[in-house]
Amino acid sequence: MSALLPVEQAQERLLALRAPLSSENIALSESLGRYLSNDVVAERDQPAAPLSAMDGYAIRFDDVPGPWTITGEVAAGAAPDRAVGAGEAMRIFTGAMLPAGADTVVVQEDVSAGGHHLMLTGDGPGARGRHIRDRAADFGVGARLLAAGSRLTAGAIATAAMGGAGQLAVGARPHVAIATTGDELVQPGRALAPGQIPDSNGVMLAAMLAGETAAPILPHHIRDDRATLAKILNELARRHDVIVTVGGASVGDHDHVRGALEDAGGRLDFWRIAMRPGKPLIAGTIGDAVLLGLPGNPSSAFVTATLFLLPLVRHLAGARDPRPAVHKAPLATPLAAGGTRRDYLRARLEDGRLTPLVGQESGMTLPLASANALLIREIGAPARDAGAIADYLVIA
Ligand code: AMP
Ligand code: MG
Repeated sequence: MSALLPVEQAQERLLALRAPLSSENIALSESLGRYLSNDVVAERDQPAAPLSAMDGYAIRFDDVPGPWTITGEVAAGAAPDRAVGAGEAMRIFTGAMLPAGADTVVVQEDVSAGGHHLMLTGDGPGARGRHIRDRAADFGVGARLLAAGSRLTAGAIATAAMGGAGQLAVGARPHVAIATTGDELVQPGRALAPGQIPDSNGVMLAAMLAGETAAPILPHHIRDDRATLAKILNELARRHDVIVTVGGASVGDHDHVRGALEDAGGRLDFWRIAMRPGKPLIAGTIGDAVLLGLPGNPSSAFVTATLFLLPLVRHLAGARDPRPAVHKAPLATPLAAGGTRRDYLRARLEDGRLTPLVGQESGMTLPLASANALLIREIGAPARDAGAIADYLVIA
């Protein structure tokens, strides 16, 4: 029997099975959660000219404390039609261009205006340049705003827009097929005969992928029959970039994923990982499609999907850094010593401290409902006291 593969090596081999998909141009409004194919570089200065940051009057600081003669007005979106001379002020609004000659804005709360006459009634601007947004204070033309391979968040999309972009080149969305296997599985909500259980993993994986860039996904259900499984895997491989099966990955008489992968003309790359839960994980290819075979126990499926399926989908979608980030926090309770596989304990992070949940058996579903972290315990780690610093992954 082959040795168990460390998690990092398995992740590396999985991502090496297929290069990222090609890139496509899409509108900013469609780009949330996608991964940039190129750096985004500013095509303009922001602001392109000095702007007022407040509603008030554009003046020359040397003229403080006034009084001033109001000579005109400039609103956001307009170019000033005149300059500000000595003793002059122009009414100005937030986001409006500063007229030539002016170097300061006095806020409207600090002055009193009557006709063309303006008087200081408050403290005034205090220093030259107050309430002015300098040209290129946000960013200058040519600045690298966003990095290739980064994920587009709402803030990143706003920045790309302000930089002058209307479209972005992003990695294509991977087509992912979910296939659940097992004669005991019944669609959630349907009546159950003795021995049957709801297929919870299908909807769970679809939900996990919904937060990713994967194109719309419908779970398929396949009976524990090697020939049927091989035929369906073969069909799915033609139309998808990734096939994720769940169940049937182990060594039981009814575990057919490895056999069916072979029968479908596929190639096994590795299986069996040094982790708990999730040891029997299968990775291979059928044509260009990557097959990822997750174990069926609900907690195993959840943990392996977090560590392998989501990184694979992100990698294909163009992510520079597709693996979940490892964070550190103190333990809220003592933690027993580690074993021969790395543990990913379903845990809660609350008030900055980690508590492993009750019910770490891989067949448990309920702890998945409240877990917000996977607490990592290394192979052979010594027992730890409360307060010791531990590694964890954030789960959504
Ligand atoms: P398997 O990996 O097929 O040996 O399944 C391991 C355990 O997970 C068994 O108790 C199965 O009934 C259960 N299981 C397999 N697939 C699913 C699924 N889609 N939803 C919920 N439980 C499952
Ligand atoms: Mg099964």
